[in-house]
Amino acid sequence: MGLHDQYGLTHVINARGPFTPLGVSRSDPRVAAATAEALGEFFVMEEVQDVANRVLAEATGAQAATVVHCTSSAITLAVAASMTGPSPERIAALPDSSGMPTRVVLPAGHAVHYGHPLVQDIRLAGATPVLAGTEDDCALDDLERELAHPDTACLLLVSSRMVRGAHVPLADAVAAAHRRGVPAVVDGAAQDFRIAELLATGADLVLVSGQKYLGSPTAGVVLGGAGPVSAVRAQEKGIGRAMKASKEAVLGVLAAFQVRQETDLGAWQHAQTEKATRFVERADALPGVRATLASDPTGLPFPRASLRMDTAADAAALAGALRAGSPAIWVMDHRQDDGELLLELVPLTDGEIDTVLDRLGKLLAG
Ligand SMILES: *Cc1c(COP(=O)(O)O)cnc(C)c1O
Repeated sequence: MGLHDQYGLTHVINARGPFTPLGVSRSDPRVAAATAEALGEFFVMEEVQDVANRVLAEATGAQAATVVHCTSSAITLAVAASMTGPSPERIAALPDSSGMPTRVVLPAGHAVHYGHPLVQDIRLAGATPVLAGTEDDCALDDLERELAHPDTACLLLVSSRMVRGAHVPLADAVAAAHRRGVPAVVDGAAQDFRIAELLATGADLVLVSGQKYLGSPTAGVVLGGAGPVSAVRAQEKGIGRAMKASKEAVLGVLAAFQVRQETDLGAWQHAQTEKATRFVERADALPGVRATLASDPTGLPFPRASLRMDTAADAAALAGALRAGSPAIWVMDHRQDDGELLLELVPLTDGEIDTVLDRLGKLLAG
């Protein structure tokens, strides 16, 4: 008997992407095996993190790396590191930030909600979020004005499809911070395919999720300069204690990067496009929807399936009916108000795709 039946849990088909309330992602069997082995063993955890530093730096081209509990905690710890540097006294004092720089500047449109407000990750370190510009627009001048303040701990930028408005290119924002001697952090939680591009912005720290597209156990991967990464690692003796990575998470992340390196990305991308194209052809033949391929706005290397309906109410009703069935089918509904649903097919098996199309056929006919 599987876990769903053992505990009476809802069977889910997740066409919503790496979504935390649905268990995020499926791990490759090689990642599951490394994780299972780690669970049965003891390790010197310092050594495990030293190996992670070496292996992840080699895999990504970053100078240094460490693994923390998740990206949310990586944001808090990156902010903490920018406030404390290597000082043991400051690390022990947080979240009491008296005497430390506390302002964390971010473009207003980068203050995203991913299940909770990102600015809370900043506050958790004892810092104060400072929003530059407006949700619709943040120009270089808006950033420069806030970065000029002497009490600034760091600049925080987000690379995500959830970011709103028009923005300064990330590399220009990072350069503006560096002109003021302010470190820059990029939250690229779901952007593990774009690590090289994010590191190339010159950011001091780049943060990505292990459990999103990499498919590791829950983990936050921190990449960047040796000094900033070491200041993040030093938080283990402070607020980072509550945000530590487990042995199985760190070793699972290493296995996930190895799987990624062994994957022929060109062939993978081709297979994803084929899969989405076949889905779209079949869905477009159904009554009441127009199906097309949709590329990811941040540049992730695979298309999604877009289903357009006549009204927002039609789209909402279809998403609701898909979720209400068994198995429960979850789709992306962030464009539902425009009458559009998006389906991310990356982790789905052929059988699951058939089930989704079957259900769509029944719902749209009826
Ligand atoms: C998912 C996400 C996070 C949080 O990642 P976790 O690893 O779940 O903590 C942070 N920022 C953005 C932009 C995200 O998409």
